[in-house]
Amino acid sequence: MQQNIDNYDFAGKKAIVRVDFNVPLDADFRITDDTRIRAAIPTLKRVLEGGGSLILMSHLGKPKGVAEKFSLKHIIYRIEELLGTKVQFAPDCQKADEQVKALKPGDVLLLENLRFYAEEEGKPRGLAEDASDEEKKAAKAAVKASQKEFVKKLASYADCYINDAFGTAHRAHASTALIADLFPNDKMFGYIMRGEIKAINNVLGNAVHPVTAIIGGAKVSSKIGVIQHLFGVVDNMIIGGGMVYTFVKAQGGKIGNSLCEDDQLGLALDIIKDAEQKGIKLYFAKDAVVADSFDNNAKSQIVPSNEIPDGWMSMDAGPESLKIWEEVLKNSKTILWNGPVGVFEMPNFAKGTNRIAEILAEVTAKGTFTLVGGGDSVAAVTQMGYADKVSYVSTGGGAMLEFLEGKVLPGIAAIEK
Ligand code: AMP
Repeated sequence: MQQNIDNYDFAGKKAIVRVDFNVPLDADFRITDDTRIRAAIPTLKRVLEGGGSLILMSHLGKPKGVAEKFSLKHIIYRIEELLGTKVQFAPDCQKADEQVKALKPGDVLLLENLRFYAEEEGKPRGLAEDASDEEKKAAKAAVKASQKEFVKKLASYADCYINDAFGTAHRAHASTALIADLFPNDKMFGYIMRGEIKAINNVLGNAVHPVTAIIGGAKVSSKIGVIQHLFGVVDNMIIGGGMVYTFVKAQGGKIGNSLCEDDQLGLALDIIKDAEQKGIKLYFAKDAVVADSFDNNAKSQIVPSNEIPDGWMSMDAGPESLKIWEEVLKNSKTILWNGPVGVFEMPNFAKGTNRIAEILAEVTAKGTFTLVGGGDSVAAVTQMGYADKVSYVSTGGGAMLEFLEGKVLPGIAAIEK
């Protein structure tokens, strides 16, 4: 049975916590963005203040085995600063028994990168490229078998398990999902996981209408699952970014050199038809800022989205689109934003995306629930300094996308089942 971190009695107990400390490091192994560590602090403090001790486990990067570069020892200094206490380190996550035994209430032990072991992900490593299907199958079976022991060892360290790693909740890994089964009555979500689940339920579950989704980004194909699932909830959908031009071309418009997925033209028409049948209003970018090359300093002009001259390409949403979108957003009670509406990495083509961030901040102040989730739109609100002016900014790119597609996330299911 799932426990509630607020009521659970941590006194004298050891809690093993799956955190997402997969932070970016520079060449000198200094952390360049500590958001993920900061986000985990409330959960960690709850355990310590409740009289428990902490065993922290995480992955860092994508090591293929033990590699100094991916050692979690590099980040100890920042956890200590943020938590205000000493952090011990176990250089091998499978050989920490002695250190765990010595833990007293208030102590913190960080285990080395879980992905130094193939068992964490349960995927075989070091297979020859020309390995036969049979060899692949055998290697997979072997790692799955040793994964059980790997999980058992981690679980043996603690009295209870907390999952607070939303960023890896869409993976059925040892530490994110399998381990939960070994704590049938002592497993729970940390505050990050709880916040993410609540925020998404505010949109997908019991949303206050009208609900509007802003879907941007480069490709229709990568957002099709999200669009289709959101059609079950939204009243309006604003579609911006590169993906607009697949829809425009499908409807016979001229798109110049704009991004287009020619193999998705039929699907684009199906989406438009489906929206009509469901009574969902679609608001495509009506006008575009187009450029004569994919360059921040390219020549630019504003044209209707379906009349892009040959040799020009769409780079951002135009002013008329933004005006229409602003009206829709101001009349919404719940808004979800996923994906930039232009090439926001180039300052000259970031205006549309920045304006969306600004409007979201304005409507949030007036009581609209605004959730920003999934990769680049999160980067955009953060860059603009609006991260604390919207209702919720999701920390998990891939996990949030899968959540929005209506998929069951193994890290959530393992706690809830
Ligand atoms: P995604 O990861 O699918 O959300 O896509 C994000 C990427 O879409 C960003 O790198 C943007 O630069 C890109 N993007 C947004 N609008 C456009 C556009 N009109 N043309 C080309 N790329 C775009």
